[in-house]
Amino acid sequence: MKARTLDGAEIDLGKDVVAAWKARLRGPLIAPDDPGYEDSRTVWNGMIDRRPAMVARCLGVADVIACVRFAREHNLLLCVKGGGHNIAGLAVADGALMLDMSLMRGVWVEPNRRVAHAQAGCLLGDVDRETQLHGLAAVLGFISLTGVTGLTLGGGIGYLTRRWGWTADNILGMDVVTADGRLVRASGDENADLFWGLRGGGGNFGVVTGIDYELHRVGPEMVGGVVAWPASEAPKVLELYRTLAEKAPPELTLVALMRPAPAAPWLPGEWHGTPIVAMLACHTGNPDEAEKAVAPIKSFGKPIGDILMRRTYVQMQSLLDATQPKGRRYYWKSEYLPRIEPALCEKVIEHAAKIRSPHSAVILFQLAGALNELGEDHSPAGNRDARYLLNIASAWERPDDDASNIAWTRQAWNDMKRFSTGGTYINFLTEDDGAERTEAALGGALQRLAQVKARWDPQNVFRTNRNITPAGSGGLPKPPLVEVGAARRT
Ligand SMILES: Cc1cc2nc3c(=O)[nH]c(=O)nc-3n(C[C@H](O)[C@H](O)[C@H](O)COP(=O)(O)OP(=O)(O)OC[C@H]3O[C@@H](n4cnc5c(N)ncnc54)[C@H](O)[C@@H]3O)c2cc1C
Repeated sequence: MKARTLDGAEIDLGKDVVAAWKARLRGPLIAPDDPGYEDSRTVWNGMIDRRPAMVARCLGVADVIACVRFAREHNLLLCVKGGGHNIAGLAVADGALMLDMSLMRGVWVEPNRRVAHAQAGCLLGDVDRETQLHGLAAVLGFISLTGVTGLTLGGGIGYLTRRWGWTADNILGMDVVTADGRLVRASGDENADLFWGLRGGGGNFGVVTGIDYELHRVGPEMVGGVVAWPASEAPKVLELYRTLAEKAPPELTLVALMRPAPAAPWLPGEWHGTPIVAMLACHTGNPDEAEKAVAPIKSFGKPIGDILMRRTYVQMQSLLDATQPKGRRYYWKSEYLPRIEPALCEKVIEHAAKIRSPHSAVILFQLAGALNELGEDHSPAGNRDARYLLNIASAWERPDDDASNIAWTRQAWNDMKRFSTGGTYINFLTEDDGAERTEAALGGALQRLAQVKARWDPQNVFRTNRNITPAGSGGLPKPPLVEVGAARRT
């Protein structure tokens, strides 16, 4: 079996070597001709088309250790797939040994301690489903099919961020297999430097096998959903968004978006494909107070659709799933914003009018609250001045349409990035975002992250990520490598 080494060379491992190693694994080892290979190697973004040499579908920590040790013994390139949702396709590399964590989806909840232990292959919905049995929730993201580990390692935002900060701010500990094939615990008490690095520094330091989430009282019943109006109402609706968001309590998160109306059953058929403006609201506090808080949205103008109502938190967490199917072609550009300015709203309207695909959108997420109250170095997720997130999100079906959709996204981004804090969300970076964008995302944390990297992975074994490495220690040109020591944003 041919594979790629860390130096980029090709190596033939030989059948006997692979067979002996396969016998040491509990989970399946899949070669390119085996059933399941296509499913493992493909990720959410249909633009990503890479072929690992083989895929180990790990069934436990011992499998992960066996894989890392085997890779080290043969100097193999490694990649790790959680939920496979990373838009840049960081989970998959040509010629690598891929650790596919998707069979490790156990969740154990300790309601009295308000802790959930999640295995690293969990999707967000797995954790919500188990924690909501106890009226508890972890701070997770907006789409239930995203992997918890990639989301958490990059920071993590969702409907609970305003109340409790980044997902990475709400972690009690992680279990990690290090570059030398050892299982270690990372928490405030044990290997605190590693624990700090993992809460925003991505997959740079090891293979995470489990995460302990701090839980909060949420739901099960809450108020949330979407109201949509014709795009012609956008100036008034975005002004409503701007003013409501500024005074909204932390329990209420508001998201505004403009896009062609999706073919959703709650929108009348004649509107499908027609430009709309919409406001998404999620209030996780007392439902009676929540209904009062969202009343100005429900009573505004003449909506063409309204599904903002009492529902369960689990329903809310999967409300948007159908809009983001696996396999479409996706390209995003994002910026953190300090505020919503009327001039930005004008730009949102202008660029939304030029959208090239029925699936694309310009989105404003509200984040302000708990994350702004923590110190910049609390975790590398940082960006404590971020109060909103702008995402210019293109999605389309055919490769022939790549150029026009990417051009639209980049034009809108170039025109709107002057509203940015200067920071961006590392988990939303695309394949073509280079080292300067990783620097913009990690800011002043980079130097300290490089120290953690130098201690825990000096040979840069874990490099198929937003790679951080001390200058001169090598690494692959793709994905983007940040050589610490160059000029950076502080
Ligand atoms: C439709 C969609 C919606 C999203 N919504 C949100 C949202 O609401 N909030 C938010 O914060 N983000 C969101 N994201 C971004 C998301 O957080 C990132 O894409 C994240 O990387 C996804 O994690 P994953 O495990 O699915 O990714 P993968 O693609 O599997 O992995 C991403 C990176 O994490 C590494 N990694 C994964 N598992 C491990 C592990 N066990 N050990 C070490 N490294 C590992 C991989 O090697 C890779 O470098 C969304 C993305 C998509 C596509």
